[in-house]
Amino acid sequence: MKIVVQKYGGTSVSTAEKRALVVQRVSKALQDGYRVALVVSAMGRQGEPYATDTLRLLALQEWDGVSLRELDLIMSCGEIISAVVMAATLGGEGINAFALSGAQAGLLTDGCYGEAEVVDCRPDKMLKILEQNAVPVVAGFQGVDGDGELNTMGRGGSDTTAVILGAALQAEKVEIYTDVSGIMTADPRIFKEARVIQQITYGEVCQLAYEGARVIHPRAVEVAMRNNVNVVVKNPEDDGPGTLITGEHILREGNFSTRGRRAVTGIAHTTGLVQFIIEFVEPDSKRELEIFQRIGEAEINIDLISVFPRIKAFTVKREHRFKVEEILKNLDVSYRLDPDCAKVSVVGVGMHGIPGVMARVVEALHAQGIKIKQSGDSNITISLLIGQEDLPQAVKTLHDSFQLNNNDK
Ligand code: ADP
Ligand code: MG
Repeated sequence: MKIVVQKYGGTSVSTAEKRALVVQRVSKALQDGYRVALVVSAMGRQGEPYATDTLRLLALQEWDGVSLRELDLIMSCGEIISAVVMAATLGGEGINAFALSGAQAGLLTDGCYGEAEVVDCRPDKMLKILEQNAVPVVAGFQGVDGDGELNTMGRGGSDTTAVILGAALQAEKVEIYTDVSGIMTADPRIFKEARVIQQITYGEVCQLAYEGARVIHPRAVEVAMRNNVNVVVKNPEDDGPGTLITGEHILREGNFSTRGRRAVTGIAHTTGLVQFIIEFVEPDSKRELEIFQRIGEAEINIDLISVFPRIKAFTVKREHRFKVEEILKNLDVSYRLDPDCAKVSVVGVGMHGIPGVMARVVEALHAQGIKIKQSGDSNITISLLIGQEDLPQAVKTLHDSFQLNNNDK
């Protein structure tokens, strides 16, 4: 059986018009000889009647002490509603379809309410449906634990559901349909001229996602990488090829780059960061340890971090600012802070082997008068902390400097 798993995000199933496009995609795949399994997210975005947040509030408005267990139960309904509606739409068009909850689709989770991980997938029921050449429509973002408790999977859960099912069903590919035409060289909401990346490695997408590009959830990409699942990201509203996410070895065989490798594949950004700078009069390793321990105990994630004997600089999300200030004051540590920072990150497997990438980043930002407040890097990423007001200009200038609008690179 040649199987394709198609995942549709919230905006792609929210109206009759959008669902008609899903029907077209499903019919096309069936005509091409595929057995088709669907995964759907809850209909619409925040504030809309069947969106996950709306359902959650329904319970929380009654009592803000509602348990995570109950919240998971109500939050799992959004996707179930979506699955039933989508199966009905398909049925109305003469395509035999069965809506399934995550539990019915065989997704076994670890019992962590709100952020469950899938520990096993037993897709027997799905296989039976596929064998009849019918379409299982699975409610994304959920599973059932060993005690029969429903769990939801947290942000990006439907992406992860699709990839896990893709692996379990040995699908030829998993298609993630969303409101953009693929993974783009930068977030199109901040940079309109961003273009669709044709092929990208699992590692690069993970890194883009970690650095703030929310187009696909990093956990979904990790699962795809581990199981060697080919993932394609595209828009149901256009006929473009979208983005193929695949292993690096396959990518290298392609001829999309004139020099064999491109230095930078894409740019991601994160807003709402606060930078703390602490200056000791004398190096004090005990104090230093205490600071980071207290912040860790408060479960606050530190992002960019630079530690020198006397100076320590680090960033946290804006929501953690006051907690960190409290910790530092309690330790009697004096500090400076910069409340309006953003992080821009350039990502590319190719930068590993190409010297001078950092120089180019610095040159491009300085030419625009953009001050770099801090930086960090891993082997395929360089991140720069800048003022939030400089972010659009920084994305544009880096995009230009690395010629990301050039389709051949
Ligand atoms: P869905 O509901 O389909 O899962 P998401 O909102 O999770 O959709 O993801 C799609 C959004 O991701 C886009 O609307 C876009 O603003 C954002 N995004 C951020 N970075 C990128 C990028 N590099 N390429 C494409 N989209 C991006
Ligand atoms: Mg999403």
